[in-house]
Amino acid sequence: MTTQTLEFKAEIKQLLDLMIHSIYTNRDIFLRELISNASDAIDKLRFAALTQPDVLENESAFKIKLIANRSAKTLTISDNGIGMTLDEVTDQIGTIAKSGTRAFLEEVKKHPDLGSRPELIGQFGVGFYAAFMAAHTVILRTRKAGVPATQGVLWQSQGDGQYRVEATEKAQYGTDVILQLKDDCLEYLEEYKLRELVKKYSDFVEHPITMDVTREEMPLDAEGKEIKDAKPVIKISEETLNSRKAIWTRSKSDISAEEYNEFYKHVAKDWVNPRITIHFSAEGSSEFKAILFVPEHAPLDLFMPEHKTGLQLYIKRVFISDQCLELLPDYLRFVRGVVDSSDLPLNISRETLQDNPLLARIRKNLVKKLLDQIEKLQQEDRDKYLAFYREFGRVLKEGAHSDFDNKERLARLLYFKSTQSNGEQLRSLSEYVSAMPAAQKEIYYLTGESLEQLRHSPHLEAFAQKGYEVLLMDEFVDEWVVEGIGKFQDKLLRSIAKGDVEIESPEEKVQKDQQREEKTKSFGDLISYLKETLKSEVKDVRLSSRLTQSACCLVADAYDPTANMERILQAMKQPVPEFKRILEINAEHPVYEKMNRLFQTDKNSPLLNDYARLLLDQALLTEGSKIKDPLWFTQKISALMALG
Ligand code: ADP
Repeated sequence: MTTQTLEFKAEIKQLLDLMIHSIYTNRDIFLRELISNASDAIDKLRFAALTQPDVLENESAFKIKLIANRSAKTLTISDNGIGMTLDEVTDQIGTIAKSGTRAFLEEVKKHPDLGSRPELIGQFGVGFYAAFMAAHTVILRTRKAGVPATQGVLWQSQGDGQYRVEATEKAQYGTDVILQLKDDCLEYLEEYKLRELVKKYSDFVEHPITMDVTREEMPLDAEGKEIKDAKPVIKISEETLNSRKAIWTRSKSDISAEEYNEFYKHVAKDWVNPRITIHFSAEGSSEFKAILFVPEHAPLDLFMPEHKTGLQLYIKRVFISDQCLELLPDYLRFVRGVVDSSDLPLNISRETLQDNPLLARIRKNLVKKLLDQIEKLQQEDRDKYLAFYREFGRVLKEGAHSDFDNKERLARLLYFKSTQSNGEQLRSLSEYVSAMPAAQKEIYYLTGESLEQLRHSPHLEAFAQKGYEVLLMDEFVDEWVVEGIGKFQDKLLRSIAKGDVEIESPEEKVQKDQQREEKTKSFGDLISYLKETLKSEVKDVRLSSRLTQSACCLVADAYDPTANMERILQAMKQPVPEFKRILEINAEHPVYEKMNRLFQTDKNSPLLNDYARLLLDQALLTEGSKIKDPLWFTQKISALMALG
């Protein structure tokens, strides 16, 4: 292979630019990022060697070496991990594989000021590119374990938009990242500095991080005594800088908050401290140790289909998987951390993990611990809980639908907007139930596209008049959530856009029924007329008990999907079965008096037909649906206005 000069993908250029031109408030983290990559590479090799021992050639002492060369002003981070092939170098170093980084760049595009707030970069864990904060030139020499020594790859870049790759010979498999340090970064050649950084950020890395340290020693004579007037000799020895003790194996009382936080940043590639830290060990039928973290912020891609993060899985301290998706249900995908099992078989393959009963037991246990802690937060500090909920509530809701075993616990953790504060404050179901007037029997909710639309929905009218609170659900998942929950504290969750609502007391009902009877007497024929005229659009036309001001609204039959559900299905490109809805009319509204008069005088009046259609269109518009013929609608309204 000859030397090739290639261009970085546009997005990387942008990232490099940020790295290079920002006076990074915390440059130190470049070392953590590179050590973390080296450690991952060793983990990968060790895992590969479980099934193909040949890849290890003769070496097996895994190690990450830091080599500081003062005269050349270079710092090298060298590992004997899995290494990379040419394709992998161009693929993984030349593009941004990690969705977190991509998400960061997308945010920068949207908010250019982010670029001037480089402390945010670290939040997204930009990994390898952090090298350009300390180095003006980065050289990467790598060879994949298992391929001949001649098939090494040399990669070099000044972070200026281009990189060069060529073939090289490399005796040892693994990767050397050679940093030609910027002039104001020479402190990274100092022993004390490297020692400090490794202790601070990478102490728990399982593999030894070594450095050659020089020491001046006085020469000793045969009896071990110092020789008078002798000059000190320079001794070089290799020192391991990290304690290497897997943090989860240590006792909780020996671990400082700072150590947990650093460990979190290492596993989650995050920048800010976690919101919740849980460290525990389980004994009994499945033994394992775990440290779980709830991050401060939800990642930007939490709801993207490709968002895949799992916990790290170790078996007897051997790294198995960086993202074990089977350890937690999907709705807890925001949780980061590590699980180390003592009884899963080491040779477990990723494919069979899912069906392993031991793993299922671990998973159950992890979910329980997490829900315990989240519940605790909710009970102890409502504000803190709501801050957590604003980040992760939407995913938690998925659980109320999908995790049958924990449905009730999850339902208690959920909050919704409600008519009580016009949607400005969140209400839990328990809060809702305790505030219910004695006469109220069910929990009322309304789903829709936006809070604004929900707040003005005609469906709310009778409830507002009665002083009954209605939960306003404006999130996509809510339709499934309420379906999943079904009942809360024995109270049915009822959509007020469906079926018949009966919110009157028995006495009121008698009175209302009487009124309805009278209205039916006077409007019965008109209603039949409306039914007939609109029969291709609506299932039925009836008198409403939920309207007090608006003229009409549409409701779904008790077991049919609501308009909101139809809208969601359409957005998901799902087939939407044709359900007609019911047009409810408010007989108190003066429009019906007028229509009735018209009807009595001339059943065939074209105006009557227009009115019927206009009523339907209005009902569609207020619920946020499309009307069939907007042009017709506006022409009719204008004509009516001209008449008025
Ligand atoms: P991340 O490590 O978060 O995936 P990076 O930008 O740090 O992102 O690295 C990109 C990819 O390059 C890694 O996922 C890995 O495949 C590869 N890589 C980086 N450093 C090394 C290394 N020392 N050895 C082997 N592969 C590496």
